[in-house]
Amino acid sequence: MADPETRLDQMVKKLKENECRITPQRLAILKILAFSEGHPSIENIYEQVKVDFPTTSLATVYKTLTLMKELKEVLEIGFADGSNRYDGNKPYPHPHLICINCRKIVDPDLTTLADMTQQLAQDTGFRILNHRLDFFGICPDCQNKK
Ligand code: ZN
Ligand code: MN
Repeated sequence: MADPETRLDQMVKKLKENECRITPQRLAILKILAFSEGHPSIENIYEQVKVDFPTTSLATVYKTLTLMKELKEVLEIGFADGSNRYDGNKPYPHPHLICINCRKIVDPDLTTLADMTQQLAQDTGFRILNHRLDFFGICPDCQNKK
């Protein structure tokens, strides 16, 4: 996990470079994204921002997320049912482990991925730009609940 304070600084810098306004609400959203604890959904972020800024609208959260996505400062983990989740701590492509029971999402430490990517490029001649790698399963907590 990247240092959340450093991530926050990087995001603020990116917004300034692009001459985007940084309102107190927007900063609060960025803070949540910098930590991205548990890969929050837009609703999670909205609930957290409302603690300090009760007047925040879901549209504000949505707009900020869209902007940060465009600036490549947040990674969207998309799902077919639209229950997308976000990682602003590691905004670049990386694998995820997803619990199909409680919807927990964690970042595995997959050291072999760089080798795999390199081998794929070598074998196929593709210049690899991106990847999406999700592992679905049942987390230890959910297994223990049985
Ligand atoms: Zn689980
Ligand atoms: Mn992640």
